[in-house]
Amino acid sequence: MHHGPLIAILVAGLGLAFVFGALAHKLRISPLVGYLVAGIAVGPFTPGFVADQNLANELAEIGVILLMFGVGLHFSLKDLLSVRAIAVPGALVQIAVATLLGMGLGYLMGWTWVAGLVFGLALSVASTVVLLRSLQERRLVQTEKGKIAVGWLIVEDLAMVLALVMIPAVADALNGARPGVAAPWSSQFDLGLWGVLGFTLMKVVAFIAFMLVVGRRVIPWILHWVAHTGSRELFRLAVLAVALGVAFIAAALFGVSFALGAFFAGMILSESPLSQRAAEESLPLRDAFAVLFFVSVGMLFDPAILLRAPGPLLATLAIILVGKSLAAWLIMRAYGKSNGVALTISASLAQIGEFSFILAGLGVSLAILPAQARDLILAGAILSILLNPVLFALVDRFAVESPSAKQKPRPGLVEPEPAPPPPMPPDVDIVPTTLSGHMVVVGYGRVGTLLGAGLLARGEKLLVIEEQPEAVAAARRDGAELLIGNAADPAVLAASGLARARRLFVAIPQSFEAGQVCEQAQRDNPALPIVARAHSDAEVAHLTRCGATLTIMGEAEIARAMLALCQAPDGPQPESEPQPT
Ligand code: AMP
Repeated sequence: MHHGPLIAILVAGLGLAFVFGALAHKLRISPLVGYLVAGIAVGPFTPGFVADQNLANELAEIGVILLMFGVGLHFSLKDLLSVRAIAVPGALVQIAVATLLGMGLGYLMGWTWVAGLVFGLALSVASTVVLLRSLQERRLVQTEKGKIAVGWLIVEDLAMVLALVMIPAVADALNGARPGVAAPWSSQFDLGLWGVLGFTLMKVVAFIAFMLVVGRRVIPWILHWVAHTGSRELFRLAVLAVALGVAFIAAALFGVSFALGAFFAGMILSESPLSQRAAEESLPLRDAFAVLFFVSVGMLFDPAILLRAPGPLLATLAIILVGKSLAAWLIMRAYGKSNGVALTISASLAQIGEFSFILAGLGVSLAILPAQARDLILAGAILSILLNPVLFALVDRFAVESPSAKQKPRPGLVEPEPAPPPPMPPDVDIVPTTLSGHMVVVGYGRVGTLLGAGLLARGEKLLVIEEQPEAVAAARRDGAELLIGNAADPAVLAASGLARARRLFVAIPQSFEAGQVCEQAQRDNPALPIVARAHSDAEVAHLTRCGATLTIMGEAEIARAMLALCQAPDGPQPESEPQPT
């Protein structure tokens, strides 16, 4: 059967990413490593099937857009402004240090100073995808460290948007205008270096103003309207259209990067109560495309560079891993941040990614960057991404913070920071509860909150397992003890003291995860009564098979309550009862 390159890359990319990702998981290393290896396997430098690199890059770009949209959804303008005092100088100093180091290496390699400048800039900017994935894996996005890191990243992105516009102008100024290599960014008018810079800044400001004035009104209005149509499909489509549409408008009209455009779209939505739902709607697609990002990076890797230029490659890596980290660490310490926060920020930024590739590509196409520099950037990127989980593991090992440096120590409570890195056993930081005779509630959403409040009102001891920051905050407000994490993770569930618990309520809607929780709970304490939530007969059967002692099907209970309403002679009556015809 005939198939095009798009189908080939989706099937080979996602399929192999799954296989290698699962393998990585088995070996207890980050699945990102598996995705990169999948990319190397379908890349042009290894034998066998070769996927279309250009297509891969475009699919990866969609991943970046959806990811930044998701971050924007959990990030308010307030968050962004609250970290500006450290993120702006931090990012600028780090960019300056990395650029100078890059220029130094360029000088030693005998490149021109402009080549060194572009090379250094490419080494100075961290990858959005890598940073967000590692923060998400460790549930750090909503913590102080996470907010600083994301704010820092936004500043870097803005700086790179400017750099992308400036470089063609610099190249022109140096080489004289060369027809045929005019970058799409330079306008037809000869504005000069400062003119181009001013014009770009104006466009960025115009975009932000446009989003705050127009976007802020129009986007929530569209989503509210769609939500009221009651069609989930339309709603999902609307979210996707907004994220991609704003990113595209940002790039096409305002010359802002896709990533920044999507970030602002998400941030605008975070002000409306629908945002949480919107985030969930874009989640599965986002994850699939983020995987394609790593596959596309893997495709760029030419292992031969390891033999061709080992010395320069080591120096490049040293700039990314050591030079940048040291700069970030020093700045954070200078601002009075604890060693743990400083090390986490340094580790999260000690890698390079998509912006570096774009800069390198631009530099080579303008003939101001030697091809070898681009190869070093690509190899530096993939190696630094591969090593990033290792850095985090080291940070977790060495960043022993004094208790006073932690925000709010609570007895028996598990704070998400510093959360466990994937390569290590996941239970390093999960503090087992000391409760006994307690009730365990998994999931503190629509069902869990009502249940938990009722249990607390009866004077029961309550332990809640939850992973969403908002739900965690609600449980904390209600006075429950908390375990933060995925209850389907054996280490998390094991910390809930099931052997001493009185009852377990599995109040999450996903039956696969719920089944896994029931199975393990039953193994841990075969005598424990387990009450689980279900939505269909098939789910009831599944959960019962997994060990639930009692399964409540939500829909059946709703029907029962509705029926009771009609039968009870003195119960509350509906406004107008349907009359039999
Ligand atoms: P609701 O459907 O409104 O009752 O919400 C379900 C809640 O369960 C949400 O707050 C989710 O964050 C939470 N949840 C879902 N799956 C898990 C899980 N595997 N571990 C912990 N919490 C979960």
